[in-house]
Amino acid sequence: MPSLDRSTLWPYRGGEPGEFYYQRYAHPTGVEAERRLGELDGGYGVLFASGTGAAAAVALGLLAPGDTIALAEGAYFGTGVLFGELARWGLRCVEFDQTGAPPDGVHLVWLEAPSNPFLTMPDLEAAAAHPAPVVVDATASTPVHLRPLEHGADFVLHSATKYLAGHDDALLGAVVCKRDEDAARLQEFRTRTGIVAAPDPCFLLLRGLKTLDVRVHRQTKSARELADRLKQLPAVLEVRYPGFGGLLSFDVAGADEARRVETSLSLITNATSLGGVDSVLESRSRWEGDRVPPGLLRLSVGLEPVEDLWDDLARALEIPGPSLHA
Ligand code: PLP
Repeated sequence: MPSLDRSTLWPYRGGEPGEFYYQRYAHPTGVEAERRLGELDGGYGVLFASGTGAAAAVALGLLAPGDTIALAEGAYFGTGVLFGELARWGLRCVEFDQTGAPPDGVHLVWLEAPSNPFLTMPDLEAAAAHPAPVVVDATASTPVHLRPLEHGADFVLHSATKYLAGHDDALLGAVVCKRDEDAARLQEFRTRTGIVAAPDPCFLLLRGLKTLDVRVHRQTKSARELADRLKQLPAVLEVRYPGFGGLLSFDVAGADEARRVETSLSLITNATSLGGVDSVLESRSRWEGDRVPPGLLRLSVGLEPVEDLWDDLARALEIPGPSLHA
């Protein structure tokens, strides 16, 4: 079992600080979790208090006022909100279609593989050919399906809250860097700003990582099956699934119908977030507004038996909505 050390201080030895001295700098559970993440993605792992904290550290720690980030269109909406907030500090952000080449003249390229909730995959080769460093948010792929550093990326970002920890009980973010010196800079920025990952979520991450491979393969198998079946339902207008991973989205006729489906489920939890062992579904327009179709439902497939998931979905989708009787 991984060990959990909640100390905020460690005694000096012979009057000198040892490897660990104050939790904001580093702690044993976090260092062990970073070592595992580094192995999984083939780089140097740095943990943060959340995925958003990790993204803020990359932007603020590695860029300068006046720099521009090219952000994948349709990426996790919170990432765009974060960069909007950082505009006050002189960081600019332009959106681009990540299935093609990033625009010229930017200082950082930010991809999402696959994007949440549109599930597009980036052109990694085109991005790697761009002179700017490349970040790939691989939250929905996990290293089980994609190791972006092997495709020319400089940084992999994970909301480790999702598949990596996997049980909806730990908020964490991770950046895995190709270069040791970038990891050292991010660690320094983390200590100075205090956006640290606490020992308890790091312990839960280490425990979750033990089953990552088994969970993600099972979730992929079920999600693929559900995506295929959803395509055959008349109430489903479009299904988005990249062919791997446990995340998919599909459209029903509109906002009212989406609300009806959300509230007709019994096994699948109507909640936000994704990547846990329990299946979760929600309408994204409540958060993202016009950026998504009003009937878009995002489904994160968990570990329940696929036939039980299908029964729940099919029942919710086939009950005609009140508007159809009007
Ligand atoms: N990146 C992606 C793809 C996400 O889905 C999320 C959260 O949903 C984040 C980043 C932000 O992570 P966190 O909620 O851990 O801050």
